Amino acid sequence: MNIVLLGPPGAGKGTQAKVLSETYNLPHISTGNMLREAARKNTPYGAEAKAYMAKGDLVPDNLVVAVIEEVLFSENLKRGFILDGFPRTLQQAKMLDEMLEKNGKRLDVVLYFKTSLPTSIARLGGRRVCKKCGANFHVKNIPPKKEGVCDYCGGQLYQRKDDEEKTVKRRWNVYTDQTAPVIAYYKEKKILQEISGDLDVDTLNKVITALFQKEKIV
Ligand code: AMP
Repeated sequence: MNIVLLGPPGAGKGTQAKVLSETYNLPHISTGNMLREAARKNTPYGAEAKAYMAKGDLVPDNLVVAVIEEVLFSENLKRGFILDGFPRTLQQAKMLDEMLEKNGKRLDVVLYFKTSLPTSIARLGGRRVCKKCGANFHVKNIPPKKEGVCDYCGGQLYQRKDDEEKTVKRRWNVYTDQTAPVIAYYKEKKILQEISGDLDVDTLNKVITALFQKEKIV
């Protein structure tokens, strides 16, 4: 099953991706996590991506596509994947279609997390991320069992620099300009399903699971 999670920053895509990945045993592929890891290791791609990410801008399409193409057709993705944060431009959406088609695959569903700006700011301000596995927590909404420590892998939690309020607003502008057109692209293809990113984690997860059953997606 090939699933894309689409929506603005702070919509809860990463959190739902983690839960869905465990429920349906599908790999969670986050381009944001991959780029942060590459930046941390200072690989050539990572070094180039760093400045864009710090400002809240999108990393150039060719760089992201190179990063994703490496993993998208690896052996452990045979059963499918959950893409989180990709595609983010029309060009990326078209490139993804081409890559999938070349490999005899297609997307089954695109979940669009329709979310308000106040929800996003509240979520991102309190978000904490695991340095090791990229899992998301929130100081109030999803606190880790032990402060500063990841429940899943014991990694250290930190606050992303681009989660500061002024960068969040910039990321929203980038989203509106460059990512929002992707919604219409998938609507036209009749694979878009809209859900509310303003719902809390458990409620939203129930909505998604019910939708998957109703539409016989998984
Ligand atoms: P995320 O963790 O998904 O919020 O992504 C963090 C940052 O990584 C974004 O603000 C972009 O700078 C970069 N990024 C992640 N995915 C993409 C993508 N598909 N296209 C371009 N830039 C991306």
